[in-house]
Amino acid sequence: MFKSLYFKVVLILLIFIVAVMCAVGAILLNGVTSYYEEDFVRQMNNSFTEDSLLMSELKSVSSSDNYPYEMKRILNSYAVDLGIDQYRNYYILDSDGELITGSDAELGSELGITPNMLNIISQKSSNDVKRTSEYADWAIRIPIGEDGEDYTIIYVRDSLEEMRSMNGMLFSIVLQAMLLGIIIAVILSFFLAKSISSPIQTLTQGTQKVAEGEFSGEINVHSSDEIGVLAENFNNMKERLKNTIDEVEGEKEKLDTVLSYMSDALVAFTESGELLHLNGSAAKIFADAIKEGDLTPEKCAEMLDLPQDINNAAEQNEKDNQNGLIFRDRICNGRVYDVSYARIRDSEDSDTYAGSVFIIHDVTGRYELDESRREFVANVSHELRTPLTSIKGATETVRMDPDMEADVRDYFLDMVLSESDRMTRIVSDLLVLSRLDNKRTKWNIETFDFKQSVRRLCDVMRPEFGEKNHEVSFGAEVDIPLITADKQRIEQVIVNIISNAIKYTPEGGHIDLKVSSTKSNTVVLQITDNGIGIPEDDLSHLFERFYRVEKSRSQDAGGTGLGLAIAKEIIEAHGGNISISSKLNVGTSVRIELPVECHLNVETNEKEDKK
Ligand code: ADP
Repeated sequence: MFKSLYFKVVLILLIFIVAVMCAVGAILLNGVTSYYEEDFVRQMNNSFTEDSLLMSELKSVSSSDNYPYEMKRILNSYAVDLGIDQYRNYYILDSDGELITGSDAELGSELGITPNMLNIISQKSSNDVKRTSEYADWAIRIPIGEDGEDYTIIYVRDSLEEMRSMNGMLFSIVLQAMLLGIIIAVILSFFLAKSISSPIQTLTQGTQKVAEGEFSGEINVHSSDEIGVLAENFNNMKERLKNTIDEVEGEKEKLDTVLSYMSDALVAFTESGELLHLNGSAAKIFADAIKEGDLTPEKCAEMLDLPQDINNAAEQNEKDNQNGLIFRDRICNGRVYDVSYARIRDSEDSDTYAGSVFIIHDVTGRYELDESRREFVANVSHELRTPLTSIKGATETVRMDPDMEADVRDYFLDMVLSESDRMTRIVSDLLVLSRLDNKRTKWNIETFDFKQSVRRLCDVMRPEFGEKNHEVSFGAEVDIPLITADKQRIEQVIVNIISNAIKYTPEGGHIDLKVSSTKSNTVVLQITDNGIGIPEDDLSHLFERFYRVEKSRSQDAGGTGLGLAIAKEIIEAHGGNISISSKLNVGTSVRIELPVECHLNVETNEKEDKK
């Protein structure tokens, strides 16, 4: 309350009133005192000058024996000029200052010797007004006798009572005026303070709202004084601030949207390690750290396998005029990332930092591709080196022994031939895959009876089934629709799958072929054997190039590890699907699904045709 504007205005007015009244009172009291004193002096000077009538009359009676009483009579007649009344009296003293007579003999007996008296007695001349706090007096010598050596003293004393009572009266008037002034001041100051403080209060409430972030509504101060101008300026300022904040928020929202939809993960921290921004992709990568409530720059660096002194490295990197640190192929939660790390400066020219940012680019696809390419090259080299080594060995053996027996030579030559065939198979399979990869395969699309094709292949391959005494069964639903596809390539896939079944099913095993169709216009071929089966761990890799469950068992069977990869490429190029389910030592089932209308890329074929 004592700090409120209202209280301050009241206090100022009160102080002002009291100060004015004090000053007025002091001036009045001083004025009255001065006037009284001056009036006393003027009266004395006028009355007691050497050539004044009073003096000449007093001197004229000074030689008489009865001079005191003569003088008293004269002074009485001049009582009005001398201002003699109940407060001011005259006294006639002898040369020692002893009272002879006076206007008030009773008071005269209490006179005593005053400084003025002493002065006039000792100096034998002059007269003066002496004013003390209690009285004002005047003394003058009047020579007496014929020779004029002796003298009497006329002594006038004013008790100042009149002046004091007047001052007292004035003081009480000033006091009353002051009290009245204070009451009026309090009432006036109430209205004054209200008229000053209410617009300020309105302004204060408005500014408080803005400080709390609420920009709606105007501050309604309609006065035309400085407060009115201040309110208007504040309204303008608030409007501009609101527009600026809206713009900044809009920009921020846009940035947030861009960041959240960006496929790269982004996480930013303040210099003290508090999270500043985290987009969706980053939230997935650091889900565990977020769950534990431990998402800090250090934790991110640790998870992404970045160096501990990353900040120093980033600063050094920046000094070398590079934009940010890039760490390639960091593995985190089974995925591979390229990580950019940069320190955020407070401002462009500033030496201090506001925080740091990690931008994490998922390169798992590229990494796996690179890996598979490397693996592929290694596989091709390995696959070709094996037959080449055999061919070289066989050729050298034959060459070193010209007298070699014919059947031994034939053995080595057969080996050269079979290894050459194997190399040819690998190379032609690779060529097929390469064409499929580059979408340069020439497709010959025709409409044919899928069930009929499978039945025919089954018949064609009967001799091969017979080699290992396999029991073959063929079954088909009645209404299998015709399909439109590259018949030759589809049959190539079927032959490959049947060959695998023959290869990996021991003597006397059973191979079953079943053709069916689904409601979604798809024909299905299921080739099931009760052969050696495939371990569960290998199932997901079967369609990879050069993947073989056990190199030895496949190589023994003359496999290249490319058959299923080619089958998958061909079936998928038709918009179909191929899958394998198997149990080790129980058997394997391959399921081929083909759409009735295939979705081959004919455009490429046309280009190819033109070539
Ligand atoms: P390959 O030419 O070596 O047979 P594939 O790509 O056709 O290559 O087959 C890949 C691997 O899958 C083979 O090495 C073999 O181990 C396994 N495999 C394929 N079909 C069968 C099957 N019916 N029974 C058991 N294993 C099979």
